[in-house]
Amino acid sequence: MQYVSTRGGVQPVNFEQALLEGQAEDGGLFLPERYPQLSDRWDSLKDLSFSELALEIVSLYATDVDADALRRILSDAFATFDDADVARLVQIEDLHVLELFHGPTLAFKDVALQVLGRLFEHVLNQHNQVMNILGATSGDTGSAAIAGVRGRDGIGIFIMFPDGRTSRLQELQMTTVREKNVHCLAIDGSFDDCQRILKEIFNDIEFKRRAHLGAVNSINWARIMVQIVYYVYASLRYDEPVTFSVPTGNFGNILSAILAIRMGAPIRRLILGTNENDILARFFASGKYQRGVVQQTLSPSMDIQVASNLERFIYLYLDGDSEQLIQFMHGFAEHNHATLRRSGHVDTTIDARRIDTDETIATIRKTWERYGYLVDPHTAVGVAAAAQTHSEGPVVCLATAHPAKFPSAVDQAIGKALAQHPHLHTLDEKHARKVKLPANQQKVRDYLEQNIIK
Ligand SMILES: *Cc1c(COP(=O)(O)O)cnc(C)c1O
Repeated sequence: MQYVSTRGGVQPVNFEQALLEGQAEDGGLFLPERYPQLSDRWDSLKDLSFSELALEIVSLYATDVDADALRRILSDAFATFDDADVARLVQIEDLHVLELFHGPTLAFKDVALQVLGRLFEHVLNQHNQVMNILGATSGDTGSAAIAGVRGRDGIGIFIMFPDGRTSRLQELQMTTVREKNVHCLAIDGSFDDCQRILKEIFNDIEFKRRAHLGAVNSINWARIMVQIVYYVYASLRYDEPVTFSVPTGNFGNILSAILAIRMGAPIRRLILGTNENDILARFFASGKYQRGVVQQTLSPSMDIQVASNLERFIYLYLDGDSEQLIQFMHGFAEHNHATLRRSGHVDTTIDARRIDTDETIATIRKTWERYGYLVDPHTAVGVAAAAQTHSEGPVVCLATAHPAKFPSAVDQAIGKALAQHPHLHTLDEKHARKVKLPANQQKVRDYLEQNIIK
């Protein structure tokens, strides 16, 4: 399988290159040149375990990775989950929830990042290379990325976060990891400062090459690819087409659902839920993509105003017309808005809804009272969005985090922080380790110089 850039400015690359490069050199994102069909094999896929199904799907895309290595990588990655199903489907009356939070950091990002860390290690070893991952996080992504590469051979990871501004649990999930290849950089500044430093360092091409810098952000194709698996796995459990409701920030998770549809999975429709940061809800209702000001909400992993993976959707929507895509993206970069179509809904298979804080809290409460089931505030956004729409057939809501990760939201909704998880209890007893650095590019770079894997 070859991968093309959405911006059309580079030669197609193979899977390993798309994996290691992350973003194409022309500024675009990688997509496969075609989407293999599953429909004719549908019945034979029904009996497979999650890991076996993952092997079927991933080997269609990662064609240049050795089959035995792939099997081992996938089974090791999913063995870190505390549920044999990996993605557990829970049905209580008319509530259908796909639990994606059974991995090490209790959020859906583990599904892809547990695989990604092992893929990186394998491919780097094959080519005798090393990589130093540099990232900035306001919470969830950092811990899932660290969990994916801790102790992996030939990989260092350096995660910057705004000191004192992430939640206590989020910080502990990063800083209590013992492995020597993990570096938590507590920056004396805001998340924006962390992102600015990240950009400045990555823009120094000479340093980036010399230090073998890499990223694990949500635009890496391999993350999108792995996420396709749970949509297929869940749709196989029904004998009629299903609708998925997906709480969305960077448009990564829901993009995988769109690609599952392209591969022939019987998915009727998609419901997209945003919090008050509703750039996507507005875009799908009107065709106008307009940047707003980021607001802090109860669902911090969706407090995003620019959805980096939307570029892939627009490319598909424009039937691969890179010229038009570039116009759209440049227009947005320059004017903070761009329009895809004059008016009306962009895509009738996607129903996008904005759910505010009050409704999120009310949904956590109602879901608990009616079904005896606790959802986290991100999941609640998807559950609330599903309740606003009328759907034929089953609607499966994606549970993207364990409710125990967000005790204060649960407390606000039902008067006590009911949700518990043993992983989180033991964090307090562990030794935490972080390096405090000023919000200064040179200081971060000095630290990297001394600690990167060479
Ligand atoms: C990252 C995240 C999301 C948003 O996923 P996207 O792929 O960015 O749309 C939703 N919920 C949780 C808990 C997350 O960590």
